[in-house]
Amino acid sequence: MKFKNHIVFVALFSLIFGNSIKESYENVSLNIIEKSLMDSTAYNRLAYICDTFGPRLSGSKNLEKAIDWILKEMKNDGFSNVQGERVKVPVWIRGEESATLLKPFYKELSILGLGGSVGTRRGGITAEVLVVNDWEELEIVGDNAKGKIVLFNAPFVSYGKTVGYRYSGASAAAKQGAVASMIRSIGPWSMNTPHTGVMAYKENIHKIPHVALTMEDAMMLRRIQDRGDKIIVKMSMDAKMVADRWSRNVVGEIKGSEYPDEIIVLGGHIDSWDVGQGAQDDGGGCIAAWEAVRIIKELDLKPKRTIRCVLWTNEENGGKGNKAYRDMHKDELDKHVLAIESDGGVFSPKGFGFSGSESAKLIVEKIHELMKPIGAHTISDGGRAADVTPLNDEGIPVMSLKVDGSKYFWYHHTNADTFDKIDFNEFNRCVAAMAIMAYVVADMDERLPR
Ligand SMILES: [Zn+2]
Repeated sequence: MKFKNHIVFVALFSLIFGNSIKESYENVSLNIIEKSLMDSTAYNRLAYICDTFGPRLSGSKNLEKAIDWILKEMKNDGFSNVQGERVKVPVWIRGEESATLLKPFYKELSILGLGGSVGTRRGGITAEVLVVNDWEELEIVGDNAKGKIVLFNAPFVSYGKTVGYRYSGASAAAKQGAVASMIRSIGPWSMNTPHTGVMAYKENIHKIPHVALTMEDAMMLRRIQDRGDKIIVKMSMDAKMVADRWSRNVVGEIKGSEYPDEIIVLGGHIDSWDVGQGAQDDGGGCIAAWEAVRIIKELDLKPKRTIRCVLWTNEENGGKGNKAYRDMHKDELDKHVLAIESDGGVFSPKGFGFSGSESAKLIVEKIHELMKPIGAHTISDGGRAADVTPLNDEGIPVMSLKVDGSKYFWYHHTNADTFDKIDFNEFNRCVAAMAIMAYVVADMDERLPR
């Protein structure tokens, strides 16, 4: 009986509410799409940020200069309440680093130290390499790891499944007596590109240097070991943590015309790793969110609720920005209607992942239909991405932009994450998807239910 009622409710709901969303917002969505696809502001701004400030690691001057420029431009765009909200962030400095294969032949290895790693002692570490493919193999070799450099040659399954070797590999290897650790870069494909990313040490275990090799070199070392040949590598790293520094979350908004205290957040993270240009991760996501708000403003749409662009700092190596936003806006969290994040690259958009109630999902599903013309009409479960998770934990529905992810991990956290990897049309379709979602939720008569 209950089940039947639910079906009737859904059918009625779809009929009334669904049709009304389509009727009310079809034309405006088409306008947003047309404007987004023609406009080169987002594309030019991303190129400018990438080429003028470079990579934007937390604590760097590059990051703060990029933030200064964005704040100035947001004011020029006529956004309200443009602020840089101060956040203390951890600071890791890479310094000089190198690794050289000495045996069985001489070769400079292409490496990237992992964020948070300690450096080597002066003069570096020269040691035999022991290759394992996974945690189980490390257990099996036991004492054999003592005094050696352990290399985790874990094949890429998915980012979530494989990233554990990067994050926790150093302490696991140190526990077995290793003097340093290396990983095969976390990615599905490589052109000799090492990938960096955050790592951490377990308490009470000796801290050893932790670096990423390219997929090619890691697989080669495994083959050499399997033939029974000895591998000797010399590693040298200056990496260190220094005292925390100030950074900022960027906040700018357009005020709602009827319910200005109700807020729809959309954004990405403005920091990046210290390699490449942070173009796909996550410069593109930041500019897409910013541009979505600018286009709504330029089309003079005047949504009923406030739409706020938030560019979080320090997502990559600390997550201090998203927690600071939650804490600084504690008093208005109950007025946060929805938070949308874009942090998976700005490739061809597919739709949004959503985390919230079933009744909210029914509405969001209807909004997706408006995005058919740009191919972004597939709703999926799971909107919790790093920077909106603290908001979702407070009961706020969250979404993350889903894109064609087939190439994202080719570039992710590498020197190849540069502006030339951005496609004008794909990027602008991401802008349109963000703008339509934010605008409709901000403008609907009913507040999106929790
Ligand atoms: Zn990211």
